[in-house]
Amino acid sequence: MNFETIAAASPEAVWGALAAHVRPARVREVPLEQACGAVLAQDARAALAYPPFDRATVDGYAVRSSDFNGRTARLRCIGLIRAGIANDAQLAPGTCVQINTGAPLPAGADAVVMVERSRTIAPDQVELDDAPKSGQHVERQASHRRPGDLLVRAGARIGPGAIAALAAGGASVVTIFARPQVALLSTGDELVASGESLGPAQIHDSNAAALERLVREQGGEPVVFGRCSDDEPALRASLELGLANDLLFVVGGMSKGTHDLVPGILSQLGVRWLIRGLNLKPGKPTCIGRAPGGCWVLGLPGNPVSCAVGFYLFGRCLLDGLQGLGAHEPPHLAGTLMGEMPKTDERPMYHPAEWSVGARGEVLVTPGAWRGSGDPFGLVHANALVQRPARAAGAGRGETVRFIPLDRPQ
Ligand code: AMP
Ligand code: MG
Repeated sequence: MNFETIAAASPEAVWGALAAHVRPARVREVPLEQACGAVLAQDARAALAYPPFDRATVDGYAVRSSDFNGRTARLRCIGLIRAGIANDAQLAPGTCVQINTGAPLPAGADAVVMVERSRTIAPDQVELDDAPKSGQHVERQASHRRPGDLLVRAGARIGPGAIAALAAGGASVVTIFARPQVALLSTGDELVASGESLGPAQIHDSNAAALERLVREQGGEPVVFGRCSDDEPALRASLELGLANDLLFVVGGMSKGTHDLVPGILSQLGVRWLIRGLNLKPGKPTCIGRAPGGCWVLGLPGNPVSCAVGFYLFGRCLLDGLQGLGAHEPPHLAGTLMGEMPKTDERPMYHPAEWSVGARGEVLVTPGAWRGSGDPFGLVHANALVQRPARAAGAGRGETVRFIPLDRPQ
């Protein structure tokens, strides 16, 4: 691996390095019905013409435009063509055929007159009050896509609109970037699974369930390792297994305490560090590295707010890069502060907040109650992280602040 450890890293320096180094993990061919949500790895091209035949785009009468001479025409109606039914009708001069939206145009016809402009004057006679140009209300075969034309470009996330385009163009199998496999490991002697009863000095592992959900939401495949005690051999065994994935999120034990063993063991397992600690509040113990086998490692502090901030700032960026979206800096929006923010020290800060849209379309940002990085309850309504630069004075109501939205369009 060709990166050096960044000293006293700022989030911006980390994003720059991740954009330069994180590449998609693997590609797979999948049937279209399994592709939704994945990122396309190769341009998808039309297997068929679209539409596959000349067809009517409205309900009405298929006609020969030359029968009109710029005014109303009386034509003999020779039948009905329905959608989905092949026909070999042939329109002679002075005739028309009733046709439904999506039905194939008969030979000889070159336009369609809407039913709203028709009047039946005898069982087989219609008067059409129109002066259609050739091609009116007709979609020609291959007018949207010819076989081999581009349907969806590589690098696009396949949403419902792309699925519709791929289906219409006859692409039954597509090449996607595989969902990254993300090992999730919580570390700490004090942790108990949520729902289980607590012994003395124990707390529930509140980070694991949130991370599992976040990983899935952001396109990864969680591989849940559960909890591991702060015990060297046990940690080594779990971490080694975790490194067999595309990405390892390891929570807790990243700091400087006597039993913060994780970075040391990962170094022994060959992990090269992009960052070991960060100039950020919360999130100072955050570490990012890469194992010899290629697995990326994100070491997150155990405090719930620090863990969430680390995920949104860097975990999401790693997941994006591994699934072919590019490991980019998360977009920051600007909004009007609806409360007070404290001054900052030498560390820049990301603070949980709620953003919303006001009555006049303005973006409003309300900071959450700040009870420190160990407060799991401040995240309940958070959908934003407000960014405050290092050594900034406190910010007051009405000031413009930058923030990262936590929900983002896919
Ligand atoms: P650590 O990062 O291991 O130093 O832990 C920092 C704080 O976060 C300690 O108070 C831990 O008890 C707590 N903590 C660590 N891991 C978790 C977790 N998975 N869920 C909830 N709290 C945790
Ligand atoms: Mg710990």
